[in-house]
Amino acid sequence: MNQKQVCQECGSRMFGRSDKKFCSDLCRNSYHNRLNSEQNSFMRQINGTLKRNRKILEDLFARHTEPLNRNELQELGFNFRHYTGSERTDKGVRYFCYEFVYSYLSKNEIKLSKMDVD
Ligand SMILES: [Zn+2]
Repeated sequence: MNQKQVCQECGSRMFGRSDKKFCSDLCRNSYHNRLNSEQNSFMRQINGTLKRNRKILEDLFARHTEPLNRNELQELGFNFRHYTGSERTDKGVRYFCYEFVYSYLSKNEIKLSKMDVD
């Protein structure tokens, strides 16, 4: 049986045009709705991580506990995998988390600063 003759949503056999992917509008809609909600949940998860990271940096910045300790950040739940941007400089890489900017002074020491937002 040709793969194209099976509905991608419900798996039912289809007859007629061989380039059809779905047996009905209902199946087409539910397929795309599911795809969207999966993408949205991925975005929600990463946005949540970035928000949490930002909150951690904001709290530490307010306490002036520089330089920051990488392990301490990790213990607070900071996720180093996600950031809003990065920039290579003479001294290394600067990472952005919204208005906060951090870079490594050494393997475990992190310098934190804040951009002026107009
Ligand atoms: Zn179907």
